[in-house]
Amino acid sequence: MRLLSLFAKRYIAGITIDDAIRAGRGLNDAGLAAAIDNLGEDAASVEEAASAVAEYLSLIDAIAASRIDADISLKLTHLGAGISAAMAERNAGIILNKAAEHGIFVRFDMEGSRHTQTIIDVFRSLHERYPNSGLAIQSYLRRSASDIAMLTGLGASIRLVKGAYKEPPDIAFADKREVDANFSALMKTLLVSGTNPAIATHDERLIEETKRFAVANGISKDRFSFEMLLGIKRSLQRRLAAEGYRVRIYCPYGPDWMAYTARRLRERKENIWFVVKNIFD
Ligand SMILES: Cc1cc2nc3c(=O)[nH]c(=O)nc-3n(C[C@H](O)[C@H](O)[C@H](O)COP(=O)(O)OP(=O)(O)OC[C@H]3O[C@@H](n4cnc5c(N)ncnc54)[C@H](O)[C@@H]3O)c2cc1C
Repeated sequence: MRLLSLFAKRYIAGITIDDAIRAGRGLNDAGLAAAIDNLGEDAASVEEAASAVAEYLSLIDAIAASRIDADISLKLTHLGAGISAAMAERNAGIILNKAAEHGIFVRFDMEGSRHTQTIIDVFRSLHERYPNSGLAIQSYLRRSASDIAMLTGLGASIRLVKGAYKEPPDIAFADKREVDANFSALMKTLLVSGTNPAIATHDERLIEETKRFAVANGISKDRFSFEMLLGIKRSLQRRLAAEGYRVRIYCPYGPDWMAYTARRLRERKENIWFVVKNIFD
């Protein structure tokens, strides 16, 4: 447990809102914007979901007071989507309303596939009232091309990611090459017809392809952004910003770091080695 928490420090801004604001300010100083996420998912009760809402409202106050360049990211299951979609919609609406008052953008993360349809439905319903909202779409899901076609039609801002959950092969590409090929195809769709899309990957081949595609199609650097996770490929993050691209760093904080850290561990076998090696050091 202590070892995992040591590993988590690399990926997480800290435990409190003050920690998140400090991390956001540090990113801004390096020419990077932030997307702050209060870690948590799968709220098991109405009270748990309500306490996540209260935390997000305090976070919005803190972002506004500090004047840092930061969006918000959230998970609808943290707001009760696993209990009822209506509850999650109500709770997300409270957060979006306050964020809108401060001109802050809010993005819904995409979660495991049993929640995909709920997240899209809740998003659609709220986006009409709150254009300061966007969501993430995963290139490993076979359905994503049609979701993107529908969502770009609504003018929604999409963050394209590969996808971080374990999914069955009938709904998700199992082969990494297929996930990457779909990412490349969806990236092109978003650059051509999306609204302010975020290309969220640390994959340098896909980042280079995005840059080349934008240049070849006359798409200027202010029409899209790159997004990456705190603690991953820091020099690449800074290099892209120095080249004039808009770069936003996903900056999670909070005591509920276990599930998020486990996903980061799974993504790269060297990370497992880091933990194993330290057990025997
Ligand atoms: C801003 C942002 C938001 C995200 N939001 C979501 C979301 O809402 N839903 C969702 O399912 N997923 C989300 N993800 C995670 C995403 O789905 C991938 O799991 C993650 O980004 C790794 O994939 P990759 O695109 O970097 O490509 P990969 O091919 O996995 O990695 C490319 C290279 O990046 C480096 N790298 C990747 N991961 C790690 C790591 N953990 N530690 C160290 N190095 C690493 C390695 O050098 C690797 O070779 C998000 C990712 C980003 C960047």
